[in-house]
Amino acid sequence: MTESTYRMRLLSVHPLDAPVVALAASMTAPARPDGHGRLTAVGAVKCHGARELDTFHAADASAMVALAGFADGSPIVAHGLADALGEDAASAMSAGVWDVREFAELLTPASADDSLVQLAARLGVAAPAHPHPRIGDAHLPPSRGKGSEQPAVADARLTYAVYLALVKRAQGLGAGLLRRLADLLARAHSPLADLVFALAESPAATDAGPIGGIDPQEIARRLDRPRSLGMPKPTKPVTPDEVRRLLANDGPFAQRFRRYEARGEQAEMAEAVARAFGSSNADAEPHHLLVEGGTGIGKSVAYLLPAVLFALRNNVRVVVSTNTINLQEQLIGKDIPDLLDVLRGVPGLDVANFRYAQFKGKANYLCLRRWEAAANGDTASPDDTRTMAKTLAWLRETRTGDRAELRLSGAELASWDRMSASGFAVCNGAREGACFYRHARDEAASAHLLVVNHSLLLSNLQVGGSLLPDYDYLIVDEAHNLEAEATRQFGFRVSQTTVENLVERLGTIIHGFGTVVRASAIEQSRKESAELRQNEAQMPLYKVRDEWAQLTAGLAQFTAEQRESDEGEIRITTAERAQPAWSALDIAWDGFERSAAEASERADALLREMEDLPPETAPVLEPLKGELNEWLVDQAEARQKIRSFVSEPDADTVYWVGRGDNLSLNGAPLDVAPRLHEELFAPKSTVVLTSATLTVEGGFAHVRTRLGVEEPGEVCLGSPFDYRNAALLCLPTDVPEPNDPRYADAVASVLERLAQVAEGRTMALFTSHAAVRGTAAKLRRVLPRRGIGVLAQGVDGTPQQLLARFRAQRSAVLLGTASFWEGVDVGNETLKVLVVARLPFNVPTEPIFAARSNQYERPFMQYAVPQAVLRFRQGFGRLIRSKGDRGAAVVLDSRITSKAYGRMFLNSMPPATIVKGRFDELAPAVGRWLALES
Ligand code: SF4
Repeated sequence: MTESTYRMRLLSVHPLDAPVVALAASMTAPARPDGHGRLTAVGAVKCHGARELDTFHAADASAMVALAGFADGSPIVAHGLADALGEDAASAMSAGVWDVREFAELLTPASADDSLVQLAARLGVAAPAHPHPRIGDAHLPPSRGKGSEQPAVADARLTYAVYLALVKRAQGLGAGLLRRLADLLARAHSPLADLVFALAESPAATDAGPIGGIDPQEIARRLDRPRSLGMPKPTKPVTPDEVRRLLANDGPFAQRFRRYEARGEQAEMAEAVARAFGSSNADAEPHHLLVEGGTGIGKSVAYLLPAVLFALRNNVRVVVSTNTINLQEQLIGKDIPDLLDVLRGVPGLDVANFRYAQFKGKANYLCLRRWEAAANGDTASPDDTRTMAKTLAWLRETRTGDRAELRLSGAELASWDRMSASGFAVCNGAREGACFYRHARDEAASAHLLVVNHSLLLSNLQVGGSLLPDYDYLIVDEAHNLEAEATRQFGFRVSQTTVENLVERLGTIIHGFGTVVRASAIEQSRKESAELRQNEAQMPLYKVRDEWAQLTAGLAQFTAEQRESDEGEIRITTAERAQPAWSALDIAWDGFERSAAEASERADALLREMEDLPPETAPVLEPLKGELNEWLVDQAEARQKIRSFVSEPDADTVYWVGRGDNLSLNGAPLDVAPRLHEELFAPKSTVVLTSATLTVEGGFAHVRTRLGVEEPGEVCLGSPFDYRNAALLCLPTDVPEPNDPRYADAVASVLERLAQVAEGRTMALFTSHAAVRGTAAKLRRVLPRRGIGVLAQGVDGTPQQLLARFRAQRSAVLLGTASFWEGVDVGNETLKVLVVARLPFNVPTEPIFAARSNQYERPFMQYAVPQAVLRFRQGFGRLIRSKGDRGAAVVLDSRITSKAYGRMFLNSMPPATIVKGRFDELAPAVGRWLALES
């Protein structure tokens, strides 16, 4: 261990009259399977206001005890201490640690994922060059040299500089907000509470601001009211010629983008979409359209261009729905602004008047009313108060109230739900007060182009169209997900904790009511009456909880008798309901329903009691009334679903029990097509459904039937990429079939070889978590020794974390299941070899799949294979994302060549170069393929 002392020029004046120790750690680049690097040094700087008192440096983690002595009780300032030092060391140091990352997140939520250097840049703090990479800084350039200075000490100085910048920023928020922030942090048990309280009391924080730091009237002024769209103009079509001219090599796109190249497939798609809106040619009538557009054709511009022209010219609204948030962000943040930029130069287009917006479900927007009630009440949990602390400074500037601007963890998201606009309560915020949700609705109603997700699009149908403004023209991108999302939205899940949470919520409301009544100045007789209602509402809750426990225990026992394993899903059909044991469940449900109905009646009486109390209690009771109204709706819905599940099943619904720790009762429509046809397609003039994977062997019949879209136009456009030279499709003939006991070892040994050939840069797609875990365990015994990391879904982190590490490490093998089959785009530098371990057939016993299969004469060929082909095509699509990419795909499921249905998979693929043979022969071919430039 070495220890050095440096003098430094200080950047600012510390506001507190006590020394602070800034701490940093240097790490090697992540090489271990857990994604952490090896700790190479710990550096610390002790500062007091404008003076640097001492520095500390140690070469390994054994320094923790010495460091504690160096700190000598001073608060420690660090950035992401847990990430850098590991959980154990961090918790040993946790007393008095002020994490600047957490501090920054309170003041600038967008900084949540920043590395120290990025955070310094955001705050305008000059950063030194870093000789060693640290977690999150793998992109940093190599050191430009800093003499003999220890990198960890330099980082500690930077941490201190960042801390001072944050202190300055916090003081600018005013004492009122800081006091409230300190209170919330204290209730969340955060060590930062002491710091923020000290800042609130420091002379620099003189501006008291509004009480509690938040002024609802100022927020209301910030949320201007956009004008509505108004009446449509007489229809004026967009012609196919017009869009083709705009997309041509001598058109405005070419003038705006230097490297623009017209793509025939893109123009063809744009023409087809223009026709679907209704054109002046023979096929004049607006109609529905299915368009498959291969990777790289530029689908979004192909539909946005005619959509923008049509909406602008006719003053109508076009809704664009996507499945993923990534695509929504790309449309809103890039594609639409770029397109408008291009169109601004086109004569005769009033682009300045064009309005577009993104609109999300209610749960995404903060409800100020619920937020204030939670902040002022006494029932908030530490997670709730930490979430409120994260939103406090943000509320002073946000114009959306959208949680996407924050980075909330799992527990914080649950807290957010309790303060979001997701409830059914309506207050004067809906008309004139400060309400982010109302503002978002107003913006949606004023937009020509409205971007939503499939979930909102379909839940809008569930509530009779009251969520979205009226629209007649719809574009559904990522349409291959529409059936699955409709199944989710039209189905239900009531878990053990759903009812337990309902009971707890009512208990909290009753408790809150009691607190209000006790503190109010109403006359004694009214108080007694209110307390009586309160007790009456409380009484049935124990019974509800008890009866529900009996019902779910009965279901657990019933399903255990059907199948031995206690995991998985058990479908409940008429055969199960006919068994004698089911009658015991009917009796248990009856008991539950009686007590739940009683609880509902008494809650209703409590609501009437609240409404009858004198007006002076209204300000404090309003939020509770809102919560109770919402509870009444939620419990009625839950009871109706439980009734349908146990006692009054519907012939067109698939039912199943989800087993495990949180047993659930589930239902889903047997077929979503009739409802989609009736409520989504038939009432609209134009619905365009597009995706890179809609066809099976070039035909749309499967998707047409599954979605219920009748007589649409159909256009299938291949990719402009040269797949023959870009992708090698390897079909080894000597890998045993998946049900062969030798298969798992064969997959691991093929992957081991491919990972060496490609120097990592390999992603393998599996169909089960067990297969991922088993293969990962085998690969970890060999690949890390050769400098190749192994990243396994469900073992080494969330899909997002795995993708970030896969990109950062370069030399790694990533093993994933469902979420990696689509939507993943890591770039050709990171991914050279894609392995499909197994053809992605559904599990035959999966309840929805099993029930839907029964609708077909030849279920395997008519349903199972087409579904698997579409997923397989999505998986293959991960390999080649841009012109110039080059890679190999290896399919380890020999059924693709040995079974007749294998042709359906191969016939649906882009025209890659296909090689078949023993894997020993194919592995060198992969190496040669990757060595060549495309
Ligand atoms: S209208 Fe709804 S979301 Fe808006 S402030 Fe009132 S309760 Fe909250």
